[in-house]
Amino acid sequence: LADTDELTGLPNRRAGLKRLEQHMRDARAVDVRAGESTLAVGFLDIDLFKRINDVHGHEAGDRVLVAVAATLTAAVRDPADVIRMGGEEFLVLLPGIGGASARARLEAMRSQVSAAGAELGIDGLTVTASIGLATLVQEDTDAASLLRRADEAMYRAKRAGRDRVVDAEAQDIAL
Ligand code: GH3
Ligand code: MG
Ligand code: MG
Repeated sequence: LADTDELTGLPNRRAGLKRLEQHMRDARAVDVRAGESTLAVGFLDIDLFKRINDVHGHEAGDRVLVAVAATLTAAVRDPADVIRMGGEEFLVLLPGIGGASARARLEAMRSQVSAAGAELGIDGLTVTASIGLATLVQEDTDAASLLRRADEAMYRAKRAGRDRVVDAEAQDIAL
């Protein structure tokens, strides 16, 4: 129970960080031979969620959170790889997946989240999300540095107009 978020049933931040650290250890063992990152993470923040609460009510907001959790969980192989980090923020762990295909997976999840929001049938409700993508590099000695890049990329997605995936490694684009 100490590891589970009550509203969504997802692992909470505490449990998620442990899971991420395990994935990092696993990925390192593989990367030594493959020479390529095999762990990606997506940091997802629902756009203008405060407004969803204000316009449609806190209960509707809760339904959105539950729907987003279910949608993301259905999109990964192991449900333990979707974490509620807090509030309207979720972390998706993509073990065994590198940059380009991680981006495609997260783009798919982004549109699935919007579709799930529409399926709630709440009049005038639109759900979008901003996602920051980061892939494990040799220099990531702990989960915090990887998460920091994903979080920064998510904020770049916000500044660029929300409702998009931004790759932390794509530093050439002016965001
Ligand atoms: P941005 O697009 O920049 O992320 O804007 P935002 O409105 O999503 O961000 P902000 O951080 O201002 O608002 C997050 C809101 O999420 C505020 C808080 O009341 C709400 N929230 C946090 N946890 C819950 C919850 O469990 N249920 C509901 N209904 N709302 C929650
Ligand atoms: Mg937020
Ligand atoms: Mg938000």
